[in-house]
Amino acid sequence: MKVLVLNCGSSSVKYAVIDTKNKIALSSGLVENIGVNGHIKAKGPINPIDESLDVPTHAEAIFAVQKYLKEQELIDVIEAIGHRVVHGGKYVKSELVTQEVIDYIRSITLYAPLHEPAHATGMEEAKKYFPNLPQVAVFDTAFHQTMPPKAFLYGIPYEIYQDLKVRRYGFHGTSHRYVSAEAIRLLNQKAEDTYLITAHLGNGSSAAAISQGQCVDTTMGFTPLDGLVMGTRSGSIDPAILFFLNKTLGYDIDRLDKLVNKESGLLGLSGLSNDMRTITQAASEGHQRAKIALEVFCYKLAREIGGLAMALPRIDALVFTGGIGENSVVVRELVLKNLSILGYDIDPEKNVNHGKKSSGIITKDGSAKAMIIATNEELLIAMDTEVMV
Ligand code: ADP
Repeated sequence: MKVLVLNCGSSSVKYAVIDTKNKIALSSGLVENIGVNGHIKAKGPINPIDESLDVPTHAEAIFAVQKYLKEQELIDVIEAIGHRVVHGGKYVKSELVTQEVIDYIRSITLYAPLHEPAHATGMEEAKKYFPNLPQVAVFDTAFHQTMPPKAFLYGIPYEIYQDLKVRRYGFHGTSHRYVSAEAIRLLNQKAEDTYLITAHLGNGSSAAAISQGQCVDTTMGFTPLDGLVMGTRSGSIDPAILFFLNKTLGYDIDRLDKLVNKESGLLGLSGLSNDMRTITQAASEGHQRAKIALEVFCYKLAREIGGLAMALPRIDALVFTGGIGENSVVVRELVLKNLSILGYDIDPEKNVNHGKKSSGIITKDGSAKAMIIATNEELLIAMDTEVMV
């Protein structure tokens, strides 16, 4: 099946036309900087495009995507549309898009203020151009809905969970689901007898404990701010730091929000960049704060992985994925060094060569297994869409 996968973010629309049979993208691209200095960059079978574009809102961005697909003669081959949705609230699996689903997504705007309205608009706009095609919503949170209460409850009054549904939801579910299924396949094991920890390390990062194909705990929480140190996000911090900054520096809610979401993480620690390539390069040249940022990133990740291990009877493999997980030789090396208590002994040659000759495995034979698996969220969204329609 040919599926148009749409990822309507806060200020961008990414898309891919996926052929699920051959598992390839026939076209992909993005419209970014919606609202200011709009830009489209896309490639298709006929010709690529990379130019400025006036896109005041998401509606114009969706229009631009369908216009480009028309030019690429792909518009008529699309058989269904799959949407990436950040927060699924009550949904435990992918859903066929109906007006009820769109209304529900809008109703939980407070859970992901920048994303949920964009997703709902994306679905409504797509309906205008593809009125006869089925649409499916695939939620980042859905894969984590199998977590038991002991993992998803915070230690705050139970009424806050009951009345306001404040709990750990977890994110990057499509990626954790995709790489865990791939790991089970590559390890040549049965899902019912496999226990994994998956680490999705990108601009946002999260790790998850996967027991018998199901998520039993994860590091992101009520929002994608929780857990690991990320590019610009702090990850878990003592919440009392926020009260302290309010009292000492007079920071209000909006200032604190900006601090922990946009000014922290690798960027805040290093004072240099949120990009792991810049950080590792600078650290290797002796930049002290880049070194600290790298150390904190890797140590906190190892510490969280150690915590997630408590949710499993054993770990068959630790999986690295995402831009950093798939590409950073140094991060994988440091993380596994920090995790030597769990029996990891990295093979430097396999680490550099992505374990190409060993199904992605980068640790020495006989030691605990760590592996690299390239994530493919678009493919999983397309495959889920195919199953649902
Ligand atoms: P997103 O979470 O936005 O999807 P990605 O998964 O693409 O992001 O990850 C982006 C991160 O991956 C950035 O921090 C970038 O520095 C890092 N990255 C990409 N390539 C490399 C590389 N070769 N070495 C180290 N880090 C890399």
